[in-house]
Amino acid sequence: MSGIGKGVSCASIGKILQSSGHKVSAVKIDPYLNSDAGTMNPVEHGEVFVTEDGLECDQDIGNYERFFDQNMYRYNYMTTGQVYHSVIIKERSMYYNGKCVEVVPHITEEIIKRIELAGAKTKADFLLIEIGGTVGEYQNMVFLEAARIMKLRHSSQVMFIMVSYLPIPKMIGEMKTKPTQHAVRALNSVGIQPNIIIGRSSAPIDNPRKRKIAIFCNIGEEDVISAPDSDNIYEIPLNFEKDKMSQRIFFHFGMQTKKGDLKEWKKFSNKYRRLTRPVKIAVIGKYFSTGKFVLSDSYISVIEAIKHSSWSLGFKPEIHWLDSEEYETNPEKLKELKKFNGIIVPGGFGARGVEGKIKVIKYARMNKVPYLGLCYGMQLAVIEFARNESKLKNAHTTEVDPKNPHPVINILPEQEEKLKNMNFGGSMRLGTYPCELKKDTISFKAYGEKNILERHRHRYEMNNDFREKLEQAGLVIAGTNPQKNLVEIIELKNHPFFVAVQFHPELKSRPLRPHPLFREFIKAAAKRK
Ligand code: GLN
Repeated sequence: MSGIGKGVSCASIGKILQSSGHKVSAVKIDPYLNSDAGTMNPVEHGEVFVTEDGLECDQDIGNYERFFDQNMYRYNYMTTGQVYHSVIIKERSMYYNGKCVEVVPHITEEIIKRIELAGAKTKADFLLIEIGGTVGEYQNMVFLEAARIMKLRHSSQVMFIMVSYLPIPKMIGEMKTKPTQHAVRALNSVGIQPNIIIGRSSAPIDNPRKRKIAIFCNIGEEDVISAPDSDNIYEIPLNFEKDKMSQRIFFHFGMQTKKGDLKEWKKFSNKYRRLTRPVKIAVIGKYFSTGKFVLSDSYISVIEAIKHSSWSLGFKPEIHWLDSEEYETNPEKLKELKKFNGIIVPGGFGARGVEGKIKVIKYARMNKVPYLGLCYGMQLAVIEFARNESKLKNAHTTEVDPKNPHPVINILPEQEEKLKNMNFGGSMRLGTYPCELKKDTISFKAYGEKNILERHRHRYEMNNDFREKLEQAGLVIAGTNPQKNLVEIIELKNHPFFVAVQFHPELKSRPLRPHPLFREFIKAAAKRK
């Protein structure tokens, strides 16, 4: 089922294989009809991750990037929507030479072709293919069918790993293997036999249950790998190795076992247990709640980026989720911000919660609380500054107030055209763009170089018509896009750390290579009493 950690399992397997000197890559298959994750509400789907080449995709791609310390590209991701779309386009151009075009073989062949393309592009020794969804559901059937065919064609080069959930119902206190047995039957019914089963549960799998799974699911006991809950996802590769995951994989492929070197990784992932000095970071957003549940998934890269930097500096991050709308109805709430070391306003869209975020930004600016603004968090910082420091009353973004007399954040003409034509999917300013930093700024010092590349996902920009006025009032333009002269970074002087960026640095933070802006932000935050 979704949410049991297929993505992290896949990333962890890749990490282990990589650690033994192999080149790895991965493909995420999402069995929905959307072409990509870009048009989905984050509460529905979690964070939309953006690759270097501008694909809006599932957050698992972010996990792969973080675990492999490697960029992923368009060919690392596919959805049912993409696959059907290309087959239909081919059909319209007579590609199939008058044949009746059918799910099998045409859709399955398209899937296989895409997987093979990813293999060729990445030149990986191991390509991990993560099929989303649940065995037995209608949506991912065609992908399983493609996988079965690949195994048939290249029997010694394909193996199957099933990630299954082992519940421990409170009333009986015993781990139940029955759902896994049924899941394997469901998988068998489409012609696939798993070679390894990863058992996700709140506890490790004991030997009697390993035996049970082995016998009923038709695999060796040593191919049942325990994956108990962990409060640190970076430990999962190490947990897998406790059950000799890599050895089992090498065995199935008839390869010689190579012992991996996970020393650095282990040092990093074990570190968090020893950290005691807290750094309290408030994240002000609005994509948290679904019914009675809080979903921090919508900001997963922000969370991970905070962790990477905090751990590397020796702090224990405490992340607090604060709902921006509360600051609109209850001004008293602002006072509670006093207890945080730093404040982040992450990306967002639309009018809901905006005034609350602006109030928080004003608080951070006036009270000298370290502030990091990400995308919308930069645009709203410009609005706050314009209203309160440049005396541009009610200044706003045209995203929220299209007729505002002081549109300090405005849409680019090419983006406006796209919206007019209802061209919403994959049409934002997406992917990597260069940025040139100004000397003697916090950002320049953080990066230690003048020319940087960062990933984007937005339609609106700081309006250059107001640049001079804002600069006169003290706003520092610390980074601009050299081709289009767009403002990419703003900063404030006389403040311990006030940096807001039009791009998404969180997408490029890696466990062993924390992002420089997050690192400097956490450093400044930790200094605040
Ligand atoms: N809504 C803003 C824009 O489209 C910011 C987007 C974001 O924060 N990712 O420009």
